[in-house]
Amino acid sequence: MNYDAIIIGAGMSGLAAGIRLAYYGRKVCLIEKHFVTGGLNSYYRRGGYNLDVGLHAMTNYCTPQNKTLSPFRKILRQLRLKHEDFALRPQKVSKICFKSASLNFNNDFNYFKSQLHEVFPSQTDNFEKLLERINSHNELDLNAAPLSARLVISSIITDPLLTEMLLCPLSYYGSACENDMEFGQFVIMFKSIFYEGFSRPYEGVRKIIGVLEKKFKECGGELRLKTEVKSINIEADNARSITLASGEEISAPKILSTIGLLETLTLASDHNRTACAVTPGKLSFTEAIFILKDDIISRAGYDNTIIFYNDSDKFSYQRPAKITNYKSGVICCPNNFLYEKPLEDIILRVTNMANCDIWHSLDAAEYKKQKNEVLTGAINVIKRFIPGFNENLIKFHDIFTPETVKRFTGHINGAVYGTADKSKNGTTRIRNLFIAGTDQGFLGIIGAILSGISIANLHFLMNE
Ligand SMILES: Cc1cc2nc3c(=O)[nH]c(=O)nc-3n(C[C@H](O)[C@H](O)[C@H](O)COP(=O)(O)OP(=O)(O)OC[C@H]3O[C@@H](n4cnc5c(N)ncnc54)[C@H](O)[C@@H]3O)c2cc1C
Repeated sequence: MNYDAIIIGAGMSGLAAGIRLAYYGRKVCLIEKHFVTGGLNSYYRRGGYNLDVGLHAMTNYCTPQNKTLSPFRKILRQLRLKHEDFALRPQKVSKICFKSASLNFNNDFNYFKSQLHEVFPSQTDNFEKLLERINSHNELDLNAAPLSARLVISSIITDPLLTEMLLCPLSYYGSACENDMEFGQFVIMFKSIFYEGFSRPYEGVRKIIGVLEKKFKECGGELRLKTEVKSINIEADNARSITLASGEEISAPKILSTIGLLETLTLASDHNRTACAVTPGKLSFTEAIFILKDDIISRAGYDNTIIFYNDSDKFSYQRPAKITNYKSGVICCPNNFLYEKPLEDIILRVTNMANCDIWHSLDAAEYKKQKNEVLTGAINVIKRFIPGFNENLIKFHDIFTPETVKRFTGHINGAVYGTADKSKNGTTRIRNLFIAGTDQGFLGIIGAILSGISIANLHFLMNE
């Protein structure tokens, strides 16, 4: 055996698992096919600008003074990091904007509650009951039977509009299921977004990745970039070794994959496509990133950090019939966090649900044309929310699509939240091959980091 553990994929979950194992003296090899780490939440440079692939915001904000053992504190403790390492700055104010009602929220849950009482006075008591249900649920039970969040919420909240509005931001930031969420996942996302809230480091996702990568290396972990795993060689239900694109074969008694459940099983040398019960994820997005010439944000008095909008009162969270759905989406303004000094660039990001099959079927010319359509669609969305915005204010833009996500991270269908068939306890049909990250089921940046930590603890450290 060359290593004690091999980790496939250096996204947030792979980096976090790697730190845990290396910290406890395991000889661990972290293999990443891309030339940078970060995966779905990485970064790149284009047109002279530093751009984040994914980051709108980190969830689960807690102040440096708050010592409660929140998920963020757990991460700091488990990874032996300090609060100031991430230099997080809280959001200003975000909004859920539907046809008939809007709700503002920030990182003070009492503010959200007061908004709720104002906009949905008839639901005040029901909302308290929902909070009791949320607080009494053990969302970290890895063996819990799945439960529909929509069913639970609508059995307590009697105004359907409020149910839709609550599901909207939580689905966008962490659901692999169409038009619903698993209730445990709803509880995780509810706490992480409404109880704790959003933040962002001044430098964006580079800061987060930099901290994790540095820690991994300090602990003695080996990171192999530009290295793709081509197959996982199975013998009698055990992963004997992995073969890299270079042809090199390496082995370890246990392997952790963070590339997705189906993506991992597809690499298994004994994979039987027809017998595999895991269904591919189908929820993907387009995102348009704009750098603006002038500070229209301040001039227009626009202080929203994130707007989750939906043009009707029924939230549609599903693969759209059309190539991209502009009737619902997310607008993020990275400038609207409480930094000490303003960001150098004025940035807006617009995210919309997209049909991966249609994007996948396009030839090069049509793909280019459709990307231009996304540009127009996203501009029209911004015009509705920021008075005075127009195309002439755009200095630079970039668009990514389900194809981009697929190409750079290997996720089938460019499905950002993976399959709906999660492996909550991280096991697979192969005895020594485990899953962490997206398809273990804790989603988003904090979720992925927690997933890496939990699965490393459970299957690599505790049971040895
Ligand atoms: C557009 C967008 C916006 C987002 N916004 C936010 C946000 O604002 N806040 C938030 O909390 N979350 C956000 N997310 C979600 C968040 O990025 C993910 O949930 C999280 O990063 C998943 O991490 P992971 O480690 O599970 O998986 P991944 O990031 O997918 O990591 C898997 C890694 O495996 C590598 N890999 C794949 N195949 C192979 C192979 N064969 N060999 C070697 N390496 C391989 C990939 O290159 C990748 O680096 C966003 C995602 C996207 C796409």
